[in-house]
Amino acid sequence: MIIGRWIQQFDQWLNRLTTGVSFHGGVHPAQHKLISTHQPIQTPPLADKLIISLTQHVGPASIPLVEVGQRVLGGELIARCAPPLGVPLHASTSGVIVDIGDYPTSHPSGLPGPCIVLQPDGLHELKVFQPKDRPNSVQSLKAILLHAGIIGMGGAGFPSFRKIANKAGQIHTLIVNAAECEPYITCDDMLMRERPHEIIEGALITAHALGATKVIIGIEDNKPEAALAMRQYRPMPESDTHIQVEVTVVPTIYPMGSANQLITQLTGNEIPSDAHSTDLGLVMFNVATLAAVYRAVIIGKPVMSRVVTVTGFAIDKPCNVEVPIGTPFEHLVNWAGLQTPHAPWLMGGPMMGTPIHHPQTPVIKTSNCILVNLPEPESETLPCIRCGACMDACPINLLPQQLYWHAKAEALDKLEALHLKDCIECGCCAYVCPSQIPLVQYYRHAKVAVKKDKAEKDAQQRAKQRHEAQLARKEQEAREKAERLAAKRAAMMAAEQAENTANEAPKELT
Ligand code: SF4
Ligand code: SF4
Repeated sequence: MIIGRWIQQFDQWLNRLTTGVSFHGGVHPAQHKLISTHQPIQTPPLADKLIISLTQHVGPASIPLVEVGQRVLGGELIARCAPPLGVPLHASTSGVIVDIGDYPTSHPSGLPGPCIVLQPDGLHELKVFQPKDRPNSVQSLKAILLHAGIIGMGGAGFPSFRKIANKAGQIHTLIVNAAECEPYITCDDMLMRERPHEIIEGALITAHALGATKVIIGIEDNKPEAALAMRQYRPMPESDTHIQVEVTVVPTIYPMGSANQLITQLTGNEIPSDAHSTDLGLVMFNVATLAAVYRAVIIGKPVMSRVVTVTGFAIDKPCNVEVPIGTPFEHLVNWAGLQTPHAPWLMGGPMMGTPIHHPQTPVIKTSNCILVNLPEPESETLPCIRCGACMDACPINLLPQQLYWHAKAEALDKLEALHLKDCIECGCCAYVCPSQIPLVQYYRHAKVAVKKDKAEKDAQQRAKQRHEAQLARKEQEAREKAERLAAKRAAMMAAEQAENTANEAPKELT
């Protein structure tokens, strides 16, 4: 065990020395980022209908507050949050609510989900926004994050107000995830080039409220323009000048943008499997999330739009667009020009993206990219040759080949012992596998099976505990009944004896 750890540490040290990368594994897929960065962020015309999903975030669906036929203004609250993990939703522009029902969503299952459909009137009438004072406490920051409907816009979708510690001073460093390591995606890159003030001010507002003293912005070295723009920005006079802001350029390697990998790269800290970054006084936000914080505080505006990369070799003019939440992907793809009608669509990048089954699937707060590439010829899956390439590529230091065997055999206990739950589904193992085994698909199914098995075991355990409690209660009742009977019998006997004694006494006297 100890020798294994030493070998691992030596391996990491060697890796850092030769590549500058602090974590194990990783891969270098072709970037294809330049195709979408030739022009500034564009604003396409409004779509005819905006399909605003009620399940854009991790947690329960938001609850509609509007009715069909109701007119709403841009930024108006249209759905409230369902506790404990929900967030509210706001109208992306002015218009009329034309339906509330199930529509296509980007959920991996491809199943439709609940949505509010807004028909824009093109007037862009906005609810009057009230800028807020810069929050001075964790609680006031949390309230702003919640009311503005801010979630992790880098893809995680976790409500931001739930991500931060409850007390000031628990976080000393805010890490800005600006790595954007997935191939093709450039929305964060363009946001940093064009709006560094939104990101850095958003970071300073967040860090100040948390009581953090440092902001570290991690940018991959394939985005020199973004790094320059971020370095050249000078904070507003009302910003907290005591917070140190550091822009750190990190090597381009996938998955540098994964939270724990970027933290290891920037701070040298490894987050243990059963801990959170907040345990080490660190919290991480994506650049788009911090820009949303800036808009919520400085303009008072909730999340109504986002920047999306529309790209791929089946798109005529790959670019970045800022669009209202709810815009159907089809609208964007048609606007950017679709060359190949039957090309598959992905939301996200080629490594971790979700297949889009319906062209009307709408942009949600976490949609960073719509990728449309020419269909690839079906590749034949071959047996595992035990080459170990997957193990070398895994950034979490797992044993992907063994996970694969056990996932195939549905050996759930072994999968747990091999830390399947720590797999971040980055796809590095499948990317390097010469046998073209869709390893991640096996892990996803296995995770579902492990979860189901655990739920069943928990249910069995609860049933067993209930049964044992029932038995214990019955035994107790029987014991108490027996005790009551015995007491009653004893009382009767005592009474009988007393009566006998009383009857006998006068005889003796007479
Ligand atoms: S990379 Fe593929 S073939 Fe090689 S050990 Fe892993 S699963 Fe087997
Ligand atoms: S998908 Fe999981 S097992 Fe494969 S490389 Fe990524 S973390 Fe490792």
